[in-house]
Amino acid sequence: MRPKRAIIPVFVPHLGCPNMCVFCNQRRISGAQIPADGDTVRREVTEGLARLGGDERTSIAFYGGSFTAIPAAQQEELLGAAQPFLASGAIESIRLSTRPDAIDGDVIERLRRYGVRTVELGVQSMCEDVLAASKRGHTPDDARQAAKLLREAGFELILQMMTGLPCDTPAKSIYTAREFIAMGPAGVRIYPTVIIKDTELFDMWIAGSYKEHTVEEAVGICADLMELFDAAHIPVIRLGLNPTDELSSGSAVAGAYHPALGELVLNRRYFVRESSLIGESDRGKAVTFCVAPGRTSAAIGQRRRNVTELCGLFGLTNVKILEKSSLSGMDIVRI
Ligand code: SF4
Repeated sequence: MRPKRAIIPVFVPHLGCPNMCVFCNQRRISGAQIPADGDTVRREVTEGLARLGGDERTSIAFYGGSFTAIPAAQQEELLGAAQPFLASGAIESIRLSTRPDAIDGDVIERLRRYGVRTVELGVQSMCEDVLAASKRGHTPDDARQAAKLLREAGFELILQMMTGLPCDTPAKSIYTAREFIAMGPAGVRIYPTVIIKDTELFDMWIAGSYKEHTVEEAVGICADLMELFDAAHIPVIRLGLNPTDELSSGSAVAGAYHPALGELVLNRRYFVRESSLIGESDRGKAVTFCVAPGRTSAAIGQRRRNVTELCGLFGLTNVKILEKSSLSGMDIVRI
């Protein structure tokens, strides 16, 4: 059996970030207040390795800020502190997240020198107006250029997008996903917009100039995005902000924050498939679907929502779900 993969995160909140995107309060999201330095890296990694026990293929991940926008000396301090762990084989790779306009030839050379394998680009949208309204401070072309440089240099590329930003629409999110697919990432993260206290977006929402992206809206659009990425064989490695105590206890004041967002999206994808297999002639009948092993609850939906809605929408008497071992993934058939 192959060893499991594990990630030791080191958060670098706002360190190196040249601007203030309307939705962002990184200190609040990561729960960290003090900028990371070499000692932080050594401490977090030592503690992380002790917790893991040594059976995993482990990476260090610098998340939270815009890593490659930090002054070069600080980047080298953080990356340098990770080197002994890399050299001893205690960790097998380094990954980090950054902004599209903070990638150039010098940066690429530095990341290579320090053994970085994976770079995550916070692109958020490929639409000019959405980026401007969110005060991202970079353009879609910056993202295309950064993705090209990183891929040509052999880095594993992960792209991050958001839904429900100011000026965004479902059609623009779909456009962003199609542009991502064209950039050939190894994986994607999707973050529906959450309104966090002490951000400009919070002020905009209070003033009425921004309408919140509801969980319901996010579930609908994310289900469509998942279909696109699945069809392109690009894994979605994260859907929605990681629930934290701080977010759950009040920092996330509105928007698409739900601890089980991924599950709701999966339920929705089954609902769409189920709906497409039911017709007018089924009115007054019970229908039965077969899904892959382990997928019954996803096909039924949380609190049997899919069953209830299908019965209401199509006038069915019941919906039954069975599992069939010959099916896999999102397969579904009607019997
Ligand atoms: S670039 Fe990243 S860290 Fe900086 S304000 Fe925007 S989201 Fe936050």
